[in-house]
Amino acid sequence: AAPGPAPAGLTPMMAQFFEIKAVNPGYLLFYRMGDFYELFFEDAEIASAALGIVLTKRGKHLGEDIQMCGVPIHAANDYLNKLIRLGHRVAICEQMEDPAEAKKRGSKSVVRRDVVRLVTPGTLTEDDHLDARSANYLAALAMVRHGETDFALAWADISTGETFVSDLAADQLGDEMARIAPAELLLSDATRAALVERHLFAPAWGGIASIIAPELADSEAALPLLRSSFPSEAFDPSALSRAGRAALGTLIGYVGESQKGRSAPLRPPLINAAAASMAIDAATRSSLELLITQRGQAKGSLRQAIDLTVTAPGARLLATRLAAPLRRADAINERLDAVSRLVEDTLLRGRLRQDLKSAPDLARALSRLALERGGPRDLAAIGKAVDAALELAQHLRAQPDLPSILDSLTQTLGAAPQALASELAAALDDELPLLSRDGGFIRPGYDARLDEERALGRETRAVVAALQARLMDETDVRSLKIKHNGVLGYFVEVPAAHGQKLLEAPHRETFIHRQTLANAMRFTTTELADLEGRIAQAQGAALEIEQAIFTRLRDETLAATSQLQGLADALAELDVTAALAEVSATRGYCRPIVDDSLAFAISGGRHPVVELMVKSEGQSFVANDADLSGSEESGGGSLWLVTGPNMGGKSTFLRQNALIAVLAQMGCYVPADSAHIGVVDRLFSRVGASDDIAHGRSTFMVEMVETAAILNRATRKSLVVLDEIGRGTATFDGLSIAWAAVEALHETTGCRALFATHFHELTSLAKTLSRVANVTMKVREWEGEVVFLHEVGPGAADRSYGIQVARLAGLPAPVIARAKQVLDVLEQRSAGTASSSQKASVLDDLPLFAHQPPPAPKGKDPVHEALDAVRPDEMTPRQAIDALYQLKKLR
Ligand code: ADP
Repeated sequence: AAPGPAPAGLTPMMAQFFEIKAVNPGYLLFYRMGDFYELFFEDAEIASAALGIVLTKRGKHLGEDIQMCGVPIHAANDYLNKLIRLGHRVAICEQMEDPAEAKKRGSKSVVRRDVVRLVTPGTLTEDDHLDARSANYLAALAMVRHGETDFALAWADISTGETFVSDLAADQLGDEMARIAPAELLLSDATRAALVERHLFAPAWGGIASIIAPELADSEAALPLLRSSFPSEAFDPSALSRAGRAALGTLIGYVGESQKGRSAPLRPPLINAAAASMAIDAATRSSLELLITQRGQAKGSLRQAIDLTVTAPGARLLATRLAAPLRRADAINERLDAVSRLVEDTLLRGRLRQDLKSAPDLARALSRLALERGGPRDLAAIGKAVDAALELAQHLRAQPDLPSILDSLTQTLGAAPQALASELAAALDDELPLLSRDGGFIRPGYDARLDEERALGRETRAVVAALQARLMDETDVRSLKIKHNGVLGYFVEVPAAHGQKLLEAPHRETFIHRQTLANAMRFTTTELADLEGRIAQAQGAALEIEQAIFTRLRDETLAATSQLQGLADALAELDVTAALAEVSATRGYCRPIVDDSLAFAISGGRHPVVELMVKSEGQSFVANDADLSGSEESGGGSLWLVTGPNMGGKSTFLRQNALIAVLAQMGCYVPADSAHIGVVDRLFSRVGASDDIAHGRSTFMVEMVETAAILNRATRKSLVVLDEIGRGTATFDGLSIAWAAVEALHETTGCRALFATHFHELTSLAKTLSRVANVTMKVREWEGEVVFLHEVGPGAADRSYGIQVARLAGLPAPVIARAKQVLDVLEQRSAGTASSSQKASVLDDLPLFAHQPPPAPKGKDPVHEALDAVRPDEMTPRQAIDALYQLKKLR
């Protein structure tokens, strides 16, 4: 936001600043001045506040001080990172010529500057800015009112080149966005307005949205751009829907704009790949805590529990697979075959995992090289990855009868460009600088001319030493030294005491005074200046040769881009396969039988995350069976009604079965003794309902919206896992809704389902609905305490144990005591009533009853009774104090 157009009377530099600022609206302008990026005006205010750096002034503009702040080049990356994370976008404006060039044009002339890169959350490529183990997607959403489809989403990770495009119906938008979780979302104002109008624009998207010019999203204009962006044999843009073209065109146009002409190595897009995966809606994804927990943390997620990959690309692929389990039995079984082979062969698995560790992040290095911001280390990474691939291929080749996936991985790995790797290894030194600009990365012996120039440089340094010795002799100043610094270059330094001597004859013929310091005096000589010129020349020549070699190696590398990308995929896939095998083998998982039936038979199932937690506390996890199997003939899958007290393990049991389906279909073994799963097309899980208060919807409303989504979308092949629907409303409303939902799932959908409930009345449905069964979480009562066995058994819970659980939770003793009294009365009354409508009247009596004084104590006064209920061992100091106050009140 620069203040208005550039008025007359500006300094040439300010005029240039305004010009550049005007064509990059919405970006903080990092304006290069020597060793700093400077920010001016409002940009400076924003940056200084965000980065905590000093705001200064530089000259005046329209009579006002010009605000300014700057970040030094060497630390610019950190500052940039911070700004991007805070949601800012930055334009990097560099000096495009040597300041000396500008001076030649006249004293008023300014250095040419240009924006070389726009940095936004979705277009990052540097390791400093990225999480190595997560993808960083830039997404573009397009809407075409008269197309084959309403919406399309295109997304790409420019740090690796992966590119996708998918047509989407309105009701799929939110779910796909939740799966992809892009860092930045491009859309036009019109698209945003249309989404908002149709209540499809999720509030969370506001923070990542970048509004783009409508021209960028034009489906016609996109065609030529798409044709020129990908090789025609790999991708035909006319196969895309109109919306698909618009979305992909937006994406590619934006990437081109932000990279200022350098082309990111985007790979031919995968089209509508989501159709091949299990549909998991946003609420299910969050409820199952696949990649992050509901609190947004990695710890406690399924991903964290099973990610034993040893490379960053492997970790990224594992996350992708976890987010999109497959839904074709043959594809799943192929993956399972590969995992199974590595589960069985511990030795091979160990070797592969060991060698994979030395494979660097090939795809990201390649992307940086293509975008001209790669350095020597990126080249070396590519060489190392190729070496690792060849090594891995050797281990695999030695194996007979490899399953198809491992076989094709072996082919790809074995075909890695060995010649390129040897060339890189020969050229690059062992210790490498991050950037190529300072040189010093080519191995001695690789290039004869480079060696020569370097030798010359070294020789001249020897000549400097000789000169120092001679000058020492001539002047008879033993402490004379030839030194070097950035300002003076080479100079002769003598202690101050000897300085005068050199200023006088005969030495003043030779020594030219440069500088007087407190304790030293500095001189130069014509001979030294001459030598310095030769040294600089040799260094310059050496640097030039190194740069030329770098460019050649980079071009040779980039020529193999698509092969190297394939190699990167293969390495990641092998890592994931070996990691899943490691999990499967070391945690006692079993290979699931996956087919197209309606089976869901798990014996000895465990929760992959809770199991780890429970074990780490030295306890054992109780395995539980689940059998929801059904058949077309019987009308579909079965539905289990799960009752039992809070804390009894219902949620754990529900989630573990959903997670087992996810694991099986991503191609992993599952935490169970045995498992038979007919492919699940859609997975619905509503466990531990989350409030959506931020969006102005009550818990009950959210629950009903989600229940509606399930009833409308679930198919016979779906798996539905529902926890306590109908809680957030009056008892009878809730019960009737839950009742009707169970009937609908059973009669109409016929899906496999687990339904946890507190409405014990529901359990009578098992009598009338053929595929409904009741199970309950077992508990044992012991001296008035309840012990949770976490064991699922047939039958329905007869009590809730709510009061026992409340006591465990630390509800004050008097409240617990009072609750018991109320419960007794309620139970006495309801025992005598026959029909449920009469039960209602019991419930209705409750408020009245609550106002009555407590029933007369039998023998004991309230103080004693409360005292009996106090358990000092179980109390925190805070609870003890509270109890004391309560006791006092009872007096
Ligand atoms: P509910 O949903 O019935 O309130 P949870 O499923 O949240 O109960 O379980 C409560 C706690 O009990 C869990 O945090 C876990 O520590 C423990 N737990 C649950 N199931 C098991 C099990 N099968 N084996 C061992 N511990 C379990």
